[in-house]
Amino acid sequence: MSSLQPVRGTHDLIGEAQLRHAHVVQTARRIAGLYGFDEWTTPIFEDTRVFSRSLGDTSDVVSKEMYTFEDRGGESLTLRPEGTAAICRALVTNGLTQSLPQKVFYAGPMFRYERPQKGRYRQFHQVGAELIGAAEPLADAETIAMGRDILAALGIAGDTVLELNTLGDAESRAAWRAALIAYFTDLRDQLSEDSLARLERNPLRILDSKAPQDRALVADAPRIGAYLTESARAFWDGLRSALDVLGVPFRENPGIVRGLDYYGHTAFEFVTERLGAQGTVLAGGRYDGLVAEMGGPRTPAIGWAGGIERLAMLLDATPAAPRPVAVVPLGEGASATALLLLQSLRARGVRAEIAYRGNAKRRMERANRIGATHAILIGEDEVARGVAQVKALDDGTQAELALDAVAPYLAGRDG
Ligand code: ATP
Ligand code: MG
Repeated sequence: MSSLQPVRGTHDLIGEAQLRHAHVVQTARRIAGLYGFDEWTTPIFEDTRVFSRSLGDTSDVVSKEMYTFEDRGGESLTLRPEGTAAICRALVTNGLTQSLPQKVFYAGPMFRYERPQKGRYRQFHQVGAELIGAAEPLADAETIAMGRDILAALGIAGDTVLELNTLGDAESRAAWRAALIAYFTDLRDQLSEDSLARLERNPLRILDSKAPQDRALVADAPRIGAYLTESARAFWDGLRSALDVLGVPFRENPGIVRGLDYYGHTAFEFVTERLGAQGTVLAGGRYDGLVAEMGGPRTPAIGWAGGIERLAMLLDATPAAPRPVAVVPLGEGASATALLLLQSLRARGVRAEIAYRGNAKRRMERANRIGATHAILIGEDEVARGVAQVKALDDGTQAELALDAVAPYLAGRDG
């Protein structure tokens, strides 16, 4: 039999990896809650059109990264490559477009057929936030500040820089787009094949190219700044001053365009130098056109997604696993009492495990191996007297407690 392996680009989360992952999710969820965001969970797969319509068929994601398949009923389904389109679909299909704003947090797996490398996988996970139904730059500033607060709560804000750009409104973008087409058309011999294909249909995407030969050309490409309409400029000024008020530092970077096609005005990325080429840990922008693509009314929105694996890699220390207490029955006559004691501990929220087998020494070894804070020893003599020996494993001190005093005592411990 050939040996079974996880699929290329996927990984199991066990031990430290799971602790780090869960810490990122729980921290993001907690901070999002402080900003008034509610969690939504949408399906892992969607009608393929949810993504093909919204992401634009020139995006890398749609043109080469999607896991699309026909199900047994002949419908084209796609494992979600990102969360925003699905949240907008859910807003529309749940009839929530008249109950705005909606502030949505989500966490879960995403799927993209990419070349696996450090920080880039085929199944990866994101936390994300969408603020749907607010057109003001203040909404962008708060949503970005929330991302920053999550990085700070994870202890990694100092490892990241917020890079900020504006893509202007539709009118600004149309003028900029024309200038980009003219600029890159002159240089078409030097463009990568991918970028050549983007030239007519979506030249903004060339700015996001990772091909080294494109990077050099992009550096001197026309910038949006010269093409901003008055109102787009006012939005951009409003955003930057709100970020100043919130104390969120940023660096303006005209090269930030976002990988997906539905963005306008705000585009941003929190980047780090600690992860090599996969340096973007949390990124997003304003997408005022997407809800309409899903069949709803035109609705302003701003959001971001953070890569959980990349965030988890930046954590300095692995969050501590909760330490249990171990119940160690000594002799057959003690097992029933031990079982009842375990249940009374769990009822008070104490993580409690029993060492099922072996002599006293083996059972104590097991208690140490699972990192127990205390071992509770119950022999037949203890059962007869209604007591237990509670031994603190870190310092070896031991106390005899009445059986019904053990759970209240341990429920108050640090562990
Ligand atoms: P990149 O430029 O790295 O391909 P992207 O622009 O495609 O990123 P988004 O669609 O904005 O990424 O997703 C938001 C975040 O999700 C990224 O900043 C990154 O942290 C994470 N992410 C995206 N793709 C992957 C992947 N294949 N594996 C792991 N994390 C990813
Ligand atoms: Mg990508």
